Amino acid sequence: MIILENVSKSYGNTGVPAIKNMNLHIKRGEFVFIVGPSGSGKSTLIKLLLKELDPTEGNITINNLNIRRIKKRHVPKFRRQIGVVFQDFRLLEDRNVYENIAFAQKVIETPNRIIKRQVPTMLSMVGLAEKYKSFPNQLSGGEQQRVALARALVNNPKILLADEPTGNLDPKNSWEIMKLLEEANQRGTTVVVVTHNKEIVDAMKKRVITMKKGEIISDEYQGGY
Ligand code: ADP
Ligand code: ADP
Repeated sequence: MIILENVSKSYGNTGVPAIKNMNLHIKRGEFVFIVGPSGSGKSTLIKLLLKELDPTEGNITINNLNIRRIKKRHVPKFRRQIGVVFQDFRLLEDRNVYENIAFAQKVIETPNRIIKRQVPTMLSMVGLAEKYKSFPNQLSGGEQQRVALARALVNNPKILLADEPTGNLDPKNSWEIMKLLEEANQRGTTVVVVTHNKEIVDAMKKRVITMKKGEIISDEYQGGY
C-alpha cells in the first residue's frame, strides 16, 4: 500500500537531510504509529506521502503508483484517496459542521442525494449527529477533531494519515479520537498516526516506527504478533 525505497529529503542544499535513505513498507489494512523526537522527520514524511513535497532521492509507491510520476494537475485527484487529519483540525470556520463534511464530497462531485445520506451517517459515527448546524468555533477541541475525522473519512479513503491528531486534546478526547481511528482501520482503511502520546501508543499495541534524525531506529509490533 505504501512503499518507500531509499527515500531522502533535504530542504535546500545545506545541512543534514530531514529524511535519510528511508526504507519502509506499510501493508494494506495496517495501523502504524510513527513516533520520535521533534525534528526527527515525521512531518516531512507525511508531506512526502501527500506529495506536498517530493523526495530528493528515492521512490515512494502508494497504491501501486510511483507518486513521482503523478503530473501536477493530477495531484489533487491523488490526494483525494488519502484522508488527512492534523493537530489543528483545519476546519472551514465559516461553514457549519454539515457543510464542512459535505464540502469534501462536493469537490469530488458526489451527487447531492448521496451527500444528504452520508453526512448524517458520518456524524452519527463520530457521535455528533445533533451538532450538524454548529460552527467550528462553537465546538470543543475534541468535537472539532471528530468533525475533521468525519470529513477525512467520508469519501472512504484507502489511507488515513493523522499528524499529531491528539496534540491539542485532553486524555478523554484523545482516546475517543484513537478509538475512531481504530474503527476506521477495522473497516479496512490503512491508518498512519504520527504522535507524541506515549500512553496511547503503549496501550494500543500496534506497529510502532520510531524515527530519529531522519532515520528509522526501530520498527516493531507491540501487540504480540
Ligand atoms: P518532526 O515532524 O519529526 O518534528 P520535521 O519533519 O518537521 O520533523 O523536521 C525534520 C527536519 O527538517 C528538522 O531538522 C527541521 O528543522 C527540518 N525542516 C522541516 N521543515 C523545513 C523547511 N520547510 N525548511 C527547512 N528545514 C525544514
Ligand atoms: P470542552 O469542555 O469539552 O472543551 P466546551 O466547554 O468547549 O467543551 O464546550 C462544551 C459544549 O458546549 C460543547 O458541546 C460545545 O459544542 C458547546 N459550545 C461551546 N461553545 C459554544 C457556543 N459558543 N455556542 C454553542 N455551543 C457551544
